[in-house]
Amino acid sequence: MSSTAGRLAARAAALDSADPLSGLRERFLLPPGVVYLDGNSLGALPAAVPPVLADAVHRQWGTGLIRSWNEHAWWQAPLRVGDAVGRLVGAAPGQVVVGDSTSVQLFNALSAAVRLRPGRPLLVVDRDHFPTDRYLAASVARIHGLRLRSVPADALADLLSREGERVAAVLGAPVDYRTGRLTDPAAVTRAAHDAGALAVWDLCHAAGALPLDLDALGADLAVGCGYKYLCGGPGAPAFLYVAHRHQAGFDHPLTGWNGHADPFDPTEEYRPAEGIARARIGTPPMLSLLALEAALTVFDGVDPARLRAKSLSLTGFLIDCADDLLATEGFTPVTPREPARRGSQVALRHPEAYALVRALADREVIGDMRAPDLLRFGVNALYVSHADVLRAMTTLREIAGERAHRPYLAGQRAVVT
Ligand SMILES: *Cc1c(COP(=O)(O)O)cnc(C)c1O
Repeated sequence: MSSTAGRLAARAAALDSADPLSGLRERFLLPPGVVYLDGNSLGALPAAVPPVLADAVHRQWGTGLIRSWNEHAWWQAPLRVGDAVGRLVGAAPGQVVVGDSTSVQLFNALSAAVRLRPGRPLLVVDRDHFPTDRYLAASVARIHGLRLRSVPADALADLLSREGERVAAVLGAPVDYRTGRLTDPAAVTRAAHDAGALAVWDLCHAAGALPLDLDALGADLAVGCGYKYLCGGPGAPAFLYVAHRHQAGFDHPLTGWNGHADPFDPTEEYRPAEGIARARIGTPPMLSLLALEAALTVFDGVDPARLRAKSLSLTGFLIDCADDLLATEGFTPVTPREPARRGSQVALRHPEAYALVRALADREVIGDMRAPDLLRFGVNALYVSHADVLRAMTTLREIAGERAHRPYLAGQRAVVT
């Protein structure tokens, strides 16, 4: 055992000292002594955010007051920050808007997709999708009189090739939010297009975590989260991508005044703005938008291929540590071992997942769990090291060995798990 631990420690040290991205951790304000492996739920705080927020509050809002809509270009922020997100997801300028939550943007994307493909009776969704995606797809189907078909992610392309001409749109995610399994969005997008259907992608666990190229992929619409790998802060606004070729036909279900062609001299009827501006709704959440804009500077000068390589090194090392340290304690990795099939997180199965995650947090190792039995460890390669990963796994082994999680086995769960 101690030789195993020593070998893993030596490997972590070697990988960290050869890591060309190790300096990026200084772009974050992480509490000392904490191992943070929950950036797939809430990204860590970028050091650039607090001064920008202080300026936004005191100078722009406090002093500038309403003038700041013009003087500090608040009005343009949803599209300006949209272009900044676009650079991270492979979208040329003018195709991304930022604002509202992922759930709201999912509703918008699915409704608009269905309206772009009238007369087709099916809306298809990944059966194992994040709950809000499934719930919203069901509601959009109901509103538009479509039937919802739920199939496993690896059956999406097949379904499209069989009955795709009846499908209006398919909603998928490159990364499974529980297991971290990566599915290639290209095959599904191609199958959708071959059948004349639209492909809508949820990038919540992909944006900022892996290289993405929405334009090259030919994605029709996409949404994603601002507060996970993009580190925009709790409740950060989400983003919506509408490919240039669909913008003229993009019929927004929420026709708010910000998306009007002339918001300050409105005609009686709603007349949508040209381009991606028609995907705006109402007054944007300026403080959150400015926080997200500042947060995105953590990616400045970072080569996405290098970030991906480090992420894979971290998740691969985590699986190796779990094999060596935790297999005898009843933990089973459920994340694919093949790098090409992994997102940026690892999930371990254990029947006492909830209690173990709570006990880990007591020892300053923060991950999370998804019911009923998955411990989830997200790695953001911008600030996580191999030493962090090893500490998380050795701490988990100690807890399991001591049964230190016993107090959490019974009793009430926290509201957020
Ligand atoms: C995190 C996440 C969401 C979150 O939606 P909110 O509206 O921000 O709560 C939605 N879908 C997926 C796939 C997610 O991972």
